[in-house]
Amino acid sequence: MDYIQIGKDYIMNTYSRFPLVLVRGKGAVVYDDQGREYLDFVAGIAVNNLGHCHPSVVAAIKEQVENMIHCSNLYWNAPQAELARLLVENSFGDKVFFCNSGTEANEASIKLVRKYSKENYGENRYGIITMHQSFHGRTLGSLTATGQTKYHNGFAPLVEGFKYVPFNDIRALEAAIDENTCAVMLEPIQGEGGVYEVQENYLYQVRKLCDEKGLLLIFDEVQCGMGRSGKLFAYQHYGVQPDIMTLAKAIAGGLPLGAMIATDKVASAFKPGDHASTFGGNPVACAAGVAVMKELLGGVIDNAREMGDYLKAGLLQLKQIHPVISEIRGKGLMIGVEFNMQEVTGIVNKAMQKGLLLLSAGHRVVRMVPPLIITRTEIDKAIDVLDDVLKEMGV
Ligand code: PMP
Repeated sequence: MDYIQIGKDYIMNTYSRFPLVLVRGKGAVVYDDQGREYLDFVAGIAVNNLGHCHPSVVAAIKEQVENMIHCSNLYWNAPQAELARLLVENSFGDKVFFCNSGTEANEASIKLVRKYSKENYGENRYGIITMHQSFHGRTLGSLTATGQTKYHNGFAPLVEGFKYVPFNDIRALEAAIDENTCAVMLEPIQGEGGVYEVQENYLYQVRKLCDEKGLLLIFDEVQCGMGRSGKLFAYQHYGVQPDIMTLAKAIAGGLPLGAMIATDKVASAFKPGDHASTFGGNPVACAAGVAVMKELLGGVIDNAREMGDYLKAGLLQLKQIHPVISEIRGKGLMIGVEFNMQEVTGIVNKAMQKGLLLLSAGHRVVRMVPPLIITRTEIDKAIDVLDDVLKEMGV
């Protein structure tokens, strides 16, 4: 069967896809329907943090589907309660709202900051400030929050009340705040925007400004959270806590799950009936999430930190030989390699032909977000492939 052709015939054309049909994955390796093997430095776009089909995740899912697949949030379920407890015990937060994706977690955060601020400061407190080059999702609220305005084209009118400021510029943020502003939303490490970290002190200054002005601070850790940066949550590198954090992607080992975590003070603005999601906190996804949390806390994050340093060192060596590499950024296993060229798609395509899956972030950055269980040998192999690709391209 030609599933690429069938897909082209029947699936709406919203993605630019590579011509691969993936059928199986184990650890950091995936296989296509031709039996070819690829080293996966995309990991479902920072989703498969434990690698593909991790035995603990597979076992947790199997056990849960035998007992209950769905039960609705009219009732309680054990995996959801257990995952909420693990998230709260290991973060700044007190309460969790579960949904199914990153964009949905961000929508929940937009509603929560508005409800909280209107109740505490009056009807006109609804403005949200986000960052240039940020990415927060594709549904209308999160899309409006997204500071890469290329994604807005064709979808106006967007949601009212959003402003955008340059990332890492505290003066611009201060200047943008007015009497309507209720919250600031940012990614501690921007992913889609090209792997840009917050600068030293910036988060601290943002927190201080928010406290002075009575604003809430939302961290979108959909991409940089869940061990990706070498700590469970990226904000933990900077010693600054938000009022709300959003999570998704890696949280349930590949099943759809999103979460919004908030302090008690802020979370209490939501009352029964204020927000909901039919599948949010589904028991199967949450059982997988509990398994993910246990593995992450059981040593996987340490590997992410160590292997992140190892990968960065390898890339820095490559930069010596290939001056077309202009910068290497990121933390843990969330790494951006910026190239001094117009377009990195050639690099990504050639690497794929040589058995290495890579991802771009914008036009000039190759993003590397391999599973956090990656080994030295696998990193050496990836560096060798990238070296070969650059040599072949004569750059
Ligand atoms: N926030 C960030 C930081 C993201 O990277 C993404 C996805 N790339 C999203 C939100 C949206 O997540 P989802 O695709 O699950 O809606």
